[in-house]
This record gives sequence, C-alpha cells and structure tokens, in this order.
Amino acid sequence: MSTPEIIIDLDKIAHNVRTLKKLYSTRGISIAGVTKVMSGNARLAKILVQNGLEILADSRITNIKKMWCDGVNAKFVLLRTLLSEVEEVVKYAHISLNSDLSIIRALSKAAEKKNTVHQIILMIELGDLREGIMPIELNDVVRDILKLQGIKLVGIGTNLACFAGVKPDEKKMRQLSSIAEDLEKRFSISLPIISGGNSANYNWFMSTTDLGRINHLRVGESLYLGCEPLEKLPIPELSIDAFTLYAEVIESGMKPSAPKGETGMDAFGSKPEFKDYGSVQRAILAIGKQDVMTDGLTPPIGMTIIGANSDHLILNTHKTNLKVGDTVAFSINYGSLLSVMHSNTVAKKYVQTTNDSRVLSNSRGKRLTPQTTFSGS
Ligand SMILES: *Cc1c(COP(=O)(O)O)cnc(C)c1O
Repeated sequence: MSTPEIIIDLDKIAHNVRTLKKLYSTRGISIAGVTKVMSGNARLAKILVQNGLEILADSRITNIKKMWCDGVNAKFVLLRTLLSEVEEVVKYAHISLNSDLSIIRALSKAAEKKNTVHQIILMIELGDLREGIMPIELNDVVRDILKLQGIKLVGIGTNLACFAGVKPDEKKMRQLSSIAEDLEKRFSISLPIISGGNSANYNWFMSTTDLGRINHLRVGESLYLGCEPLEKLPIPELSIDAFTLYAEVIESGMKPSAPKGETGMDAFGSKPEFKDYGSVQRAILAIGKQDVMTDGLTPPIGMTIIGANSDHLILNTHKTNLKVGDTVAFSINYGSLLSVMHSNTVAKKYVQTTNDSRVLSNSRGKRLTPQTTFSGS
C-alpha cells in the first residue's frame, strides 16, 4: 500500500445509488447524481449511470467535458455557469443552472451560433443567500428569458443548506411550488423540472405528505457518504463507509500533552491552546493539510486527533500502542472527501467488495479485504 491512500468501494456507492433512486422515485422525484466531489472521474461516474442515474450534475464544465470525453453516457447538468465559458457550456452541458440574465443572454447567443437551443433551470433565492434570482425580480427576468431564441426555460430550482445552512423545509418547498405555478399561469408556459434542492432535502422528503410540484433533486453527499447533511445522520439502508482514508505512522510513543517553552503562532498563523493532561500515548502520521482537509477526518474509535499541519497529523491513541509503519484508517466527511479526491498526493484505490455493506457500516478504522482491486485514479 502506498500511503496516504483512499480506498473507494464502488459496490457500496452502487448500492447507495440504487437505494436512493428507488426511495425518491417511488414518489415521483428523479435525482441527478452530483459528481463534483469526484473531479470528473469517469469510473465513478459510470457507476452512477450503470446503477440507474440518467442525469449527472457537476459544478465545473471541465469535469463535464472530461466525463463526456471519457465516454460517460449521461445527460449533463452544469450547476454553476460562468460568462467566460458559455461556448463550452452549450457544447457539453444539456442543461445549466442559471441566476444571471447577462449570462443567460450570452448562453443564448452561443447556442444560436451553434444552431441549437440550450436548456436552463432558473435558480431562485429562497433564503440561503447563495445563487438565485430574488423572487421579486422573477417576473421581469422570466419575461426576458422567454424572448431569447437560443434558450429554453425547462424549469426552476433552488439551493438551500449550502451557504447559510437554511433548511429546505415544508414552507420553502411550498414556496417553490407556488412560484412554479404562478409563472406557468402568468406566462402560459410549462415548467417540467422543479428542482427542490440537494441531499439536505432528505428530511423534508421523508416527513412531508405533499411534495407539491417538486419532482427533481440534485444529490451528492448522500450518495457517497450515506448521510443527510443537516444533522449528519445516516440514512437507513445506506452504506456510510464507501470511502476510507489510510495514513502511515512515522513516530509513536509517550509525550507530554502541553508544550514546553514560550509559545507564539503555530505554522499556520494561529495560536493553539493546550491543556496539560500529563503524558499521553501519541502517534504521528504522514498525512497533513497538504493532502486533505484534516478537520473532516474521524480516527478509529478510541483515538482522537490532537492537531495537524502541512505534512503531519498527531493522534492521541489513548490505550492503543501503534507501531511505526502501521496504517490508521479514517472515515471522512464531505469537505475532506472533496479535498482528497482533488489531491494528487493521495493515492486512490478502487475496490469492489461483495460483502453486504450494511453489516460493516458502523465499524470505523477497520481494514478492508478487497476481493477485486483496481489501481490508479
Ligand atoms: C453541490 C450542489 C448540489 C449537491 O449537494 P449535496 O449536498 O452534495 O447533495 C446540488 N445543487 C447545487 C447547485 C450544488 O452546487
């Protein structure tokens, strides 16, 4: 094993894809598989497609282009549109999410130049304060969009629980539904896609008796990590350990818990605080902020992370006496997963375990025994 290394269990992801697709589709909601966390990796994208997702969504046109070129057979939705990329967008994305009229106009021109019509979903700001047209400006914007020859407005959407953590609850979803109905009536159009949000819509979906007009979600985190993002609670039946990160011990032993000497800033310009617990059993691992966003790592049960800098992560291993050369397995949150999948210092290994993933899903820090392995990224 080369370390640090992330092991990606494709069977567990496949299981999550099938389970979530079934859950949402039984009540008429189709899901787009969001691929931005995996940096346009075709092997992962193909797992999503093979297990039933016809639509993939990514925030970067470069990732969509990569998947397109690598033969991923899906409809692509672009989640974030740049004015400087409109030519590429109309070429590679089937649909793009938009919230700015000047970009939509440029998309229209680019589409007309290619003799096509580009489809857009108009994003509406419902309180999370990231992208979206303010509801009060909506009628004017839609009126202008409908005049554009190169654009077809195929739906509206909203994105909550991202920037400000605003919950996509019953009230927000009802608001989106009624905006859809109002626009349809006012302009005599039909809006086939009403895209209510992302993985954070799970709790709303499970608790509501009336989905209203919402018939589409863009789902990333819950497909990969098996949890809903607001409370980080596991979703029943899903695997929560499709990704495991391994790092190697380079020093192990007892050291004081409090530093000795006068202290100033640490290597990252902050001033860490230490409590004196006496001597503790510690291990230094060869992984750091250069490799992964270390804040989102969870060590095996019985160990805690003391801190990390660019190349070292320091563990309090409590009762466990690790040896130099041992590898320690970490589970990983979505932010850290994003950083690891884009890191060229962390090896990626794809495995397919035939084990029933649910049996293993709550154990942390275990060693996998892969039955089929691939290497490379
Ligand atoms: C990232 C993103 C998603 C997916 O969010 P998850 O929490 O991973 O499900 C959906 N929509 C937009 C606009 C996004 O940027």
